[in-house]
Amino acid sequence: MTIEKVGVIGAGQMGNGIAHVCALAGYDVVLQDIDPDSLKKAIDTITYNLTRQVSRGIIKDEDKDKALKRIVPVNDVAAFSDVDLVIEAATEKEEVKRAIFAQLCPVLRADALISSNTSSISITRLAAATDRPEQFIGLHFMNPVPVMKLVELIRGIATDEETFKTAREFTNRLGKTTTNAEDFPAFIVNRILMPMINEAVYTLYEGVGNVEAIDTAMRLGANHPMGPLELADFIGLDTCLSVMQVLYEGLADTKYRPCPLLVKYVEAGWVGKKADRGFYDYRGDVPVPTR
Ligand code: NAD
Repeated sequence: MTIEKVGVIGAGQMGNGIAHVCALAGYDVVLQDIDPDSLKKAIDTITYNLTRQVSRGIIKDEDKDKALKRIVPVNDVAAFSDVDLVIEAATEKEEVKRAIFAQLCPVLRADALISSNTSSISITRLAAATDRPEQFIGLHFMNPVPVMKLVELIRGIATDEETFKTAREFTNRLGKTTTNAEDFPAFIVNRILMPMINEAVYTLYEGVGNVEAIDTAMRLGANHPMGPLELADFIGLDTCLSVMQVLYEGLADTKYRPCPLLVKYVEAGWVGKKADRGFYDYRGDVPVPTR
């Protein structure tokens, strides 16, 4: 099957990046979100990021214009009747994704493929909530999508070979490298990354170091490009917490219990950069540690 038109659900951090790279690779994109503000912000962000790519000489001015024309923002999945592939990138909550698939499936063509960008939820279980588990696959993009080279491909128990091959070709045309991960909680990247971030939050919670000390230690001591708390803010603390909960419940091992301080930040609405506050406060000119 050849993909020409892509429907992206959720216009948040990931959805806007996915729409950006798809449009730049020549795909027509329908970008849907229930929140009109998210949609507006997404188009502004895509325009800003494409302009930055032009000024850095990565793409030409005409590529930017063509890409922007290929993206159609919509409020309703009713506009997905002629898409070849759906990429679901809505909030990391299983009930949200299930409700989306229930609305989406009756609208889609029978041969359309569905994928989810979930960071951690079982692809097999999400696939079972659709009318086409054979045509369902996990496409796990990394943040920020226009910059990061990797996409994890995750086959559910029922995903057929045709769907896998089509998804791999599609991701390669986006200029991304794929790795195959089996469908176990949080796949590969987050299975390793999130317990590290959670441990950094425990280190903060227990007073081993403050935010600055922990991030500096890992940047200079482990040669990480970003400290774990800065990275957590960047990913979104709500997403980090959801992934830890999926690991904790899915693997039934107490070593994955989410740090109570991470829960507290999420309960406060201090979910990181997207909320202007997390382990750092981003409301001023420079980020200031909150602890
Ligand atoms: P986000 O909070 O920035 O965006 C989520 C968007 O989904 C919001 O705009 C929200 O309005 C929209 N939404 C919620 N319910 C919806 C519905 N019923 N229909 C349509 N839109 C709806 O979150 P994000 O960081 O973009 O994460 C999205 C997905 O990508 C999650 O599954 C997350 O696990 C995954 N992911 C995130 C990262 C990351 O670093 N943030 C990396 C890889 C994958």
